[in-house]
Amino acid sequence: MKILIEKTERSREMPPIAELGFGKYFSDHMFLMDYIGEEGWHSPRIVPFQPFSFDPSSLVLHYGQSIFEGLKAYRWKDGSINLFRVMDHVDRFVRSAERLVIPEFDRELVLNAIHTLLDVDRRWVPDEEGTALYIRPTLIATENMLGVRPSNEYRMFIITSPVGAYYACGMAPTRILVEEKYSRVPEGGTGGAKTAGNYAASLKASAEAKRLGYNQVLWLDAKEHRFIEEVGTMNVFFVIDGVLITPPLGGTILDGVTRRSVLELARDWGVEIQERRITIDEIAEAHIAGELQEAFGSGTAAVISQIGMLGWRGKDIEINERPDSLRQRFYEEITGIQYGRIEDRHGWVTTVPNAQAYTSSNGHHTAVPDETTGTA
Ligand SMILES: *Cc1c(COP(=O)(O)O)cnc(C)c1O
Repeated sequence: MKILIEKTERSREMPPIAELGFGKYFSDHMFLMDYIGEEGWHSPRIVPFQPFSFDPSSLVLHYGQSIFEGLKAYRWKDGSINLFRVMDHVDRFVRSAERLVIPEFDRELVLNAIHTLLDVDRRWVPDEEGTALYIRPTLIATENMLGVRPSNEYRMFIITSPVGAYYACGMAPTRILVEEKYSRVPEGGTGGAKTAGNYAASLKASAEAKRLGYNQVLWLDAKEHRFIEEVGTMNVFFVIDGVLITPPLGGTILDGVTRRSVLELARDWGVEIQERRITIDEIAEAHIAGELQEAFGSGTAAVISQIGMLGWRGKDIEINERPDSLRQRFYEEITGIQYGRIEDRHGWVTTVPNAQAYTSSNGHHTAVPDETTGTA
């Protein structure tokens, strides 16, 4: 399928880098594609960024059949624009769709859509280290009717947002509250999918944590509230007596791309890894024994985020990592690869092709075939 391109006649200025924050501003264009019953996916196109108009009975507004992804594009010193593990994100988008009974789509087409959109909005990729263009592929149920069943119509869209540092407090260690009352998702639930409902369900807990002076919550398993799951939008790691420990995948937590990268680097470096269930009691005991050396979260938005404090049962467990922490090493290595400063030995980074020649007619443009995919 060809991606039609309709360029805006009113391009906007990108705000100063210091004002970017996270997810506040959006670039000039977006990608759209629609699905309807027998026809399947059709009309992939890039259009000026603009509001949607939907019927109030749209299924997504009532029952939340909706999925998304989040990845970043980085501008290198040579001006090129580079994506980090883009196919891992596209594959997870497909797995989330499967879990939410959303019809399958062509992975290569989504990759080509991301490439074409970024090529059109090249100037929206900020060029200071630490900044990036955040890419948000989203897919929602758009059929107009009330009834709890999979929609017959969908819209996929991709918007992009130039971003600075994720947390307002920069790279300062975060304060995380261990959540013992609310749960994220039970076993057999939608925890492994990036679906809207998971986040709606988490808001109450994080609002209460914020009122108590914490940045986020650490979720425990929904059944016993003992086993550690993950943080808001990050997977979680601990270093106890030199061993890197992280909860296993199993459907209740997200299969994070940053989590994978941390584990693969740890393997390269010969760090002892344990992917296993770990209780909050074990963390507290390790802390008392002086063996809890590090705690950090991993996710695309903040990359690697140091956890400085875990609030649990009215007490704060303080974690003072050493200057030569593994966390710091993961952060330097991953961001180094993302910004092209460190050699990418894993083939994680791909460059957005420069399509240069667009064929133009009536102000509409058609993307030329992309030599990396051949599916334009
Ligand atoms: C997106 C997300 C993560 C992090 O995944 P990355 O692929 O590393 O960005 C972790 N947990 C949840 C719940 C998420 O939504």
